[in-house]
Amino acid sequence: MSSSRREFLKKATAVGAGAFATGIIPSRLVNDAVAQGKTVAIASANGVQAVTRAMELIRSGADALDAVIAGVNIVENDPNDTSVGYGGLPNELGVVELDAAVMHGPTHRAGAVASLRNIKNPSKVARVLLERTDHVLLVGEGALQFAKAHGFKEEDLLTDLARDEWLRWKENLSTKDDWLPPHDENSKDIGGLFEPFFRNTGTIHCSAIDQKGNISCVTTTSGLAYKIPGRVGDSPIIGAGLYVDNQVGAAGSTGRGEANLINCSCVMIVEYMRQGKSPEQACLEVCKRIVDNNKMRRLKFDDGRPNFNVKFYAVNNKGGYGSCCIYEGGEFAVHDGTSAKYVPSAYLYAKHPQLR
Ligand code: ASP
Repeated sequence: MSSSRREFLKKATAVGAGAFATGIIPSRLVNDAVAQGKTVAIASANGVQAVTRAMELIRSGADALDAVIAGVNIVENDPNDTSVGYGGLPNELGVVELDAAVMHGPTHRAGAVASLRNIKNPSKVARVLLERTDHVLLVGEGALQFAKAHGFKEEDLLTDLARDEWLRWKENLSTKDDWLPPHDENSKDIGGLFEPFFRNTGTIHCSAIDQKGNISCVTTTSGLAYKIPGRVGDSPIIGAGLYVDNQVGAAGSTGRGEANLINCSCVMIVEYMRQGKSPEQACLEVCKRIVDNNKMRRLKFDDGRPNFNVKFYAVNNKGGYGSCCIYEGGEFAVHDGTSAKYVPSAYLYAKHPQLR
């Protein structure tokens, strides 16, 4: 992004934040990339290889769903990405539990698995669920049995790298876990913090448009590190961590899943795009919605802003794409049919000194 565009974006989002406070939302805040009728693949920042692979497949005529799943499989299989698939950081008991969902635009079908243990490609299981059952979401033991019935092999997903990290966390237990004492809206410093402290997070989302103009998407993750066993985030929940409407576009998210679960964020982004907002504007609107709905003192900095971040990625049916985070500093990966690149995300607020 050019520095003048960055400046424009900064001003535009600052205007957006102020205007939101008074309930006036300017009709045009930012300029997204617009590419009429083009193939595109967009992903979270850990997805540059994913969008490259997805675009290779799209160019050879693949359906967008096959393309995005093959893209994220690279990251699911990577032991060095401790936020997704094999090598993901475990729950508080040291067990890796994975969440994933896929959504196919042209047939408006979805498949999702949550709290899945011992299978390193939950996105592939989600895809089989979409094709071979009448259900949309399977969890835990049921998801594992289903995967095994379809020939997925069980394996230990906990790498030494992830186990070492988990041990370090376990040995330094404090108020920074998810177990909270009785509390009310004004309680603070009682734990349950997502960021900015040492709860590693990460996820990969990938959305793409194929040569037929069809749109599909996937989100896959090991979820919040050291979570309470059985905790399910936004990633496998259709409408929260991803959503596609083939006539409009697709959206996905990484960051604090709980915020997306209670704001139905990704379906909202698609609905904002349906109303005519650009992908980036639509993502920004949902960032504002999350901030406005963030009532609990423990989830705010002293200045009242959220003490967590959420990042959104969106494409529209014209090939336009955009991204926005609550806080400055995010970027995303995109392949626009020509090359794969990182692009800085728009943001609602400048970097917060207390947010890592
Ligand atoms: N959204 C994921 C979850 O809440 C975590 C992340 O993206 O960092 O499980």
